[in-house]
Amino acid sequence: MLSSLKSDNVVLIIRRIADTVHSKASFLSQLDAEVGDGDHGINLDRGFTEVGNRLPRYQDKDIGTILEETGTILISSVGGASGPLFGTLFRRAGKAVNGTSSISLNDIVTMFEAAETGVITLGGAKVGDKTMLDVLDPAAKAAKKALDAEELDLVKAFESIVSAAEAGLESTKSLVASKGRAMYLGERSHGKYDVGAFSLFIILKSVLETLRGIEGDQIHTDKRELENS
Ligand code: ADP
Ligand code: MG
Repeated sequence: MLSSLKSDNVVLIIRRIADTVHSKASFLSQLDAEVGDGDHGINLDRGFTEVGNRLPRYQDKDIGTILEETGTILISSVGGASGPLFGTLFRRAGKAVNGTSSISLNDIVTMFEAAETGVITLGGAKVGDKTMLDVLDPAAKAAKKALDAEELDLVKAFESIVSAAEAGLESTKSLVASKGRAMYLGERSHGKYDVGAFSLFIILKSVLETLRGIEGDQIHTDKRELENS
């Protein structure tokens, strides 16, 4: 069972997010084109490509620093409304575990809550405004619920986080935007996903997929050690 993450696991997660954002870049820009200006996927991809390039310089640091640096790079390279928001999300999550080299679900809950506060403080959105917050808020709540239920397995915890995030993403379809560019579309944003919510969902899904991979490797190693003993 995977109950904690080390710095190198977090690096793997960031790499996976960067790869996934890259492969979904044109899909995300297309989504943005339907309600906004069509730059979202390209912008986010540029940011995560830069993160991937600079990661070797800070990947040996503690988890807090790794996430804060990642957020700082996103702020300076993504642009648009979502750059500072995604950057803040990563920066706040990092700050919440400043100096730590191992995190468990307890820390992850703190990170989600800090990230959500950061996004709300910066963007002033509420749940239901058809933004990334409609994914972030249910994800943070699902993490807290898993902790309260004394879940130790991070894969199981993230399975419930991702399913709550997916429900939140689906909810953006029936909402009318009241923040960001899609707001100018008014009623016409109805029936379309919010693109920032979609990106955040993709990011959280990448976390889950990486955790499954790490757990799989761990089982493999444990088995080998058992066989050799
Ligand atoms: P821009 O609208 O400047 O082109 P992007 O296309 O990169 O920026 O990102 C748009 C996304 O940013 C939206 O789909 C929404 O999820 C998110 N967003 C915009 N404004 C806010 C806000 N005030 N609070 C939270 N999220 C926001
Ligand atoms: Mg845009």
